[in-house]
Amino acid sequence: MTLDETDALRRDADDPGRRHMFLVPPASGGRYEEAAYLVGNSLGLQPRAVRDELAAHLDDWATLGVEGHWEAHDPWLSLPQRLAVPSARLVGARPEETVVMNSLTVNLHLLMISFYRPSGTRTRIVIEDAAFPSDSYAVRSQAALHGLDPETTVVRLRPRAGEDALRTEDVVGYLRDSGDTVALLLLGGVNYLTGELVDIAAVTEAGHAAGAIVGWDLAHAAGNVELRLHDWGVDFAAWCNYKYLNSGPGAPGSAFVHARHLGDPAVRRLDGWWGNDESTRFEMAPVNRPPATADAWQVSTPQTLALAPMTSALQLFDEAGMPRLRARSVRLTSYLMDALDAVTPGRPLDVITPREPGRRGAQVSVRVGGQSAGELAKRLRFEHGVLVDSREPDVVRLAPVPLYSSYHDCWRAAAALAALC
Ligand SMILES: *Cc1c(COP(=O)(O)O)cnc(C)c1O
Repeated sequence: MTLDETDALRRDADDPGRRHMFLVPPASGGRYEEAAYLVGNSLGLQPRAVRDELAAHLDDWATLGVEGHWEAHDPWLSLPQRLAVPSARLVGARPEETVVMNSLTVNLHLLMISFYRPSGTRTRIVIEDAAFPSDSYAVRSQAALHGLDPETTVVRLRPRAGEDALRTEDVVGYLRDSGDTVALLLLGGVNYLTGELVDIAAVTEAGHAAGAIVGWDLAHAAGNVELRLHDWGVDFAAWCNYKYLNSGPGAPGSAFVHARHLGDPAVRRLDGWWGNDESTRFEMAPVNRPPATADAWQVSTPQTLALAPMTSALQLFDEAGMPRLRARSVRLTSYLMDALDAVTPGRPLDVITPREPGRRGAQVSVRVGGQSAGELAKRLRFEHGVLVDSREPDVVRLAPVPLYSSYHDCWRAAAALAALC
């Protein structure tokens, strides 16, 4: 393929996505009006509907005060439960397995308090070496909470020499050989750095066969790839709503607990009044009575104003449907890879995301040489109006988001990389 702008524009006319429902930032440089926004894996764009949604809650607060908890247009007390329904659909869960609360790392901690239960020689927590730092810190501190040494308790699985992505067969192999020492396997469904999509079903099955609990960080998977958490038997999962799910900066996270753990008195939790059954919550009794749903993991009052954008943001996924979005995502990333292949030969650029569409999400990561990734990202932004994310020392991440990214955005990224590298 040669880089051809007209071809990119024609593809956009044929396969337009839903960009018109979003506010796209202006470019900070280059010759186009709008930014080529390829950082929706960091913060999703603002859906146009969000401003009115938020304003309606502010109006309710102004006119109803505390009564807004029951009488707001979208009553505040029950808003998290209503949001659990589209959240559950996104990840293939039942609404009672899903709860919207806190933020991602906090939720991972709350879930590990329940599901990381080291005993005897089965104490290890297995993560991927390229885990997001917050996840790494979280598991190390969980090991320490149990009086264990994080250095020996946390195992970091590495790709094979000369490879960038972790192979499913290697994760499965580790579990087969050393699984009896593993208490918890906690991996990213789509790796934040390489964009690799892990075979969640196969790894979950292997973890269970080894006798381990299997949890997933779906920060880069929810709203990106099709998920069937209930059917796959995943024990627990957590994800954020501000990346692919476009619910705004600081949007609360979501969590999943499989139905087989719900209502199990052997599962311990950190409790607060919001985890009490809603029918008796306001009786103010001294002993908690949790419901047999994921709501039992709630601790505190929901952050209503931060939740508000989720209603319209998640609706866009129900309208488009994940299968259609995923299909468009594969077309976009395939186009982007082809466009990059047209410019990487002879340049210090190397695509590290797996080539097979079934092994990647909506992200293509590129290792760069000769200049720092951060410097390159700045030049892409200010000289070409292309927004990409950089991870020092040498990776830039390009995420064409199927709801709003265009082929032209991908073309611009490839053309700008060619100009700067
Ligand atoms: C974005 C991201 C986080 C961020 O966690 P917060 O608690 O929401 O700040 C954690 N883990 C992964 C894998 C992420 O991609």
